[in-house]
Amino acid sequence: MEIAVCVKQVPDVPSIRIDRKRMTVIREGVESIINPMDQIALETALDLRSREGGQVTVITMGPKQSEEALRECLAAGADRAVLLSDPAFAGADTLATSRVLAKALSRLRPLPDLILCGVHTTDSDTGHVGPQIAEELRLPQVCGVHEIHAEGQSLVLKKAHGGVVDTIRVVLPALLTINKGSLESRHLRLGSLEKAFSGVGITRWDRGDLGLRAGEVGLEGSATHVWRLRNPPPKRNGVIITGSPQRLVEHLLHKLEELTLLEEERGNG
Ligand SMILES: Cc1cc2nc3c(=O)[nH]c(=O)nc-3n(C[C@H](O)[C@H](O)[C@H](O)COP(=O)(O)OP(=O)(O)OC[C@H]3O[C@@H](n4cnc5c(N)ncnc54)[C@H](O)[C@@H]3O)c2cc1C
Repeated sequence: MEIAVCVKQVPDVPSIRIDRKRMTVIREGVESIINPMDQIALETALDLRSREGGQVTVITMGPKQSEEALRECLAAGADRAVLLSDPAFAGADTLATSRVLAKALSRLRPLPDLILCGVHTTDSDTGHVGPQIAEELRLPQVCGVHEIHAEGQSLVLKKAHGGVVDTIRVVLPALLTINKGSLESRHLRLGSLEKAFSGVGITRWDRGDLGLRAGEVGLEGSATHVWRLRNPPPKRNGVIITGSPQRLVEHLLHKLEELTLLEEERGNG
């Protein structure tokens, strides 16, 4: 089975910074990791390959530094890697991102039987990209899958939602977005990392290689633009009171009176 896995390099959550002028995530010089759900998608692909044979191709659209993410995937066991990188891709919204990924996936030879994406990312977190790639390539899609069994030219899938588990049969070729199931991302061994970072070549495609026009990619090819970014107001203001039991009771009574909760209680009583 030919499996392609879309992986995105995301900023390590504590180090996310925003460029307030351009309303974009600052990715340069920031500690990055593979999006955790994409690691699970890769494990799913490697697990399927061990049962069904074939090869696993990892693919990413991002700045040059995303090559590191691809090399980590190679170290984990992927067979080949494709980096889609071009200054023209910068500022892409989810539509422009999906267009570039779909175009690249359609150029892979052999064509993938199965495309896997994470169900969402930890930075932009829209969950749009997988379904949009499927639409672009006119493929059947199932989102939020946590278990896969191959049966000839189809897959039997499980996905959970609202306490219910659906069992779905899908005919290949298809696209799935992967949710956390029983598989964990593996710890990479130094030896395999060393091999992946020194040896295997990575295929690089830019806008020209994909035959896309400037107006179809990046900021120019985006249908949406971020207008404003703000932090949501905090929902709860927790206060920790310390001191002797007497002080705690006094403080608590004072607070309740301040909030007029005690007055109402006394009035009702
Ligand atoms: C309106 C808007 C404007 C934006 N403008 C900018 C901008 O100017 N600059 C900027 O840096 N970002 C921008 N972004 C963020 C950028 O669009 C997203 O990083 C990108 O489209 C992926 O979306 P996501 O992270 O929500 O992916 P999701 O849809 O949550 O991801 C689902 C899965 O799709 C796959 N996937 C997603 N992205 C990639 C990728 N790049 N390569 C390979 N696989 C991938 C992965 O498998 C992932 O798990 C913008 C987003 C929006 C909504």
